[in-house]
Formats: sequence, C-alpha cells, structure tokens
Amino acid sequence: MNKQQKKIQKQNDKLKIEKQDNDSPQNIEDLIHDKNDFICPICLNYIVAAVSLKCGHTFCEICLHEYLLYFKGCHICNDNMRKSKFAYCYLLDQMIHEFIKSHHPEELKTYEMAKINNKEWRKKKQVSSIDVGQQIDVRDPNFVWNVGTIKRLKISQEASKIKYLVIHYEGKSDKHDEEIAENSPRFAALGFYTSRNDIPKYYKQTKNPFLKNLLCIECMDPNDNQFNQQFFIEDNSSESE
Ligand SMILES: [Zn+2]
Ligand SMILES: [Zn+2]
Repeated sequence: MNKQQKKIQKQNDKLKIEKQDNDSPQNIEDLIHDKNDFICPICLNYIVAAVSLKCGHTFCEICLHEYLLYFKGCHICNDNMRKSKFAYCYLLDQMIHEFIKSHHPEELKTYEMAKINNKEWRKKKQVSSIDVGQQIDVRDPNFVWNVGTIKRLKISQEASKIKYLVIHYEGKSDKHDEEIAENSPRFAALGFYTSRNDIPKYYKQTKNPFLKNLLCIECMDPNDNQFNQQFFIEDNSSESE
C-alpha cells in the first residue's frame, strides 16, 4: 500500500466509525426519548422537580400540590392520590435537563427559570422554625388548609425518636387537637395556603337549613369574587368530641 492508498483507507475507516456512531447510540437515544415523555400532563410544559405517585404517573411538584388542593384522583388515572406517597425522581430531572440541552437548547432558559421558581416556592412553603405558640398552616384530613397553633412538642418513646407537634387548629371543628410528625407534608409556613382565597376553605354557617349537618367547603374565584366551587362534608364533630 502506498502512502496515498493508506490515507484513503484511513479516511474510509473514519467514515465507517462515524456512520456506526450515527446509527447506534445517538439514534437509539432519539428513539427512546420523545419530548412527550417529559411533559407534565397538568401544565403541558417540561416536568420540573418530578414527583411520582403510587399509580406511576409523574407531574411537576408544584402542579401536583396545586391539583391536590381541589382534586382527590390522579389527573390521568383517577387513582386516589391523597392516599399515595410522593416520590421525588431526581434521575428523571437530570434526564430532562440533558434532553433539553441536547435536543432543544432554545428551551433551556425557560426550563431553568421554572426550576428557580420551584426552589422559591419550596422556600416560601417551608416552616423555618418550630416554637410552642407559633402559628403555621396545617392541612386537615379533608385536605383543607387551616391556621394552626403549636401547643407543644412531643418526642416518641420508640427508638425512632420522631418529633411530633401537638397542634390546635380551628377548621372543621373548633376543638381540634392533633399530633402530627414534625416532617409531615401537612405543614406549611403561616399564610402560604391560608392567605389564598382561590382554594377550598370551611364556611360553617350554611344558609340552607337542609344542609345544617354539613360543613361547606367553598372556593372563591379570585377574578370575580364569586364562589365557584362547593364541596359538602358531613359534620361529625359534635359526635366525636
Ligand atoms: Zn407541571
Ligand atoms: Zn395515575
């Protein structure tokens, strides 16, 4: 083989390798990741801070928490998500980031902004310190947010030594005290939810005498100050206490 032939051979080999590269890993990746796989079914944007439910469906953290304020069932399959544990999927977050970077770099800025927004949301929601007498937002078993007052702290006698807050809140019943684990998702900083008028709240006096035994949870539309949603739940507070 003369010098010229060797050069051509080398070039051919290089082309072959490049072709293989194009055929295999890069293209398989394209096949596996379709943009739709990474889209949140609620906001229809890329999933930010992915959270999965027991049913296997995944949403943005904020979208899921907002959705949970109004609905019981998963947005996709209607499985009761209020009984489901939330699982954060850091690997998916990373995959989405990599996918946008390599396939839609023009969308990276918007995605990064949404991630910053999520961080700020978490910071605002977080209860920064826990002291007796302090007021915080607490979510009751009906998923309605109320203002609660920390009455005392309790440490479990078990080996786990979980800290509980004994909390008093006036939601469904005005005599409600409950022990809730300190790290429970049922807490938020004071006003994070309870200052909002667009989410369900309790309204105890119903005007309709036939609904006397029912507590009304109503939700105001912030745009026109009209009640646009009503939920009724049975008031058992006088029986149980
Ligand atoms: Zn979303
Ligand atoms: Zn589901």
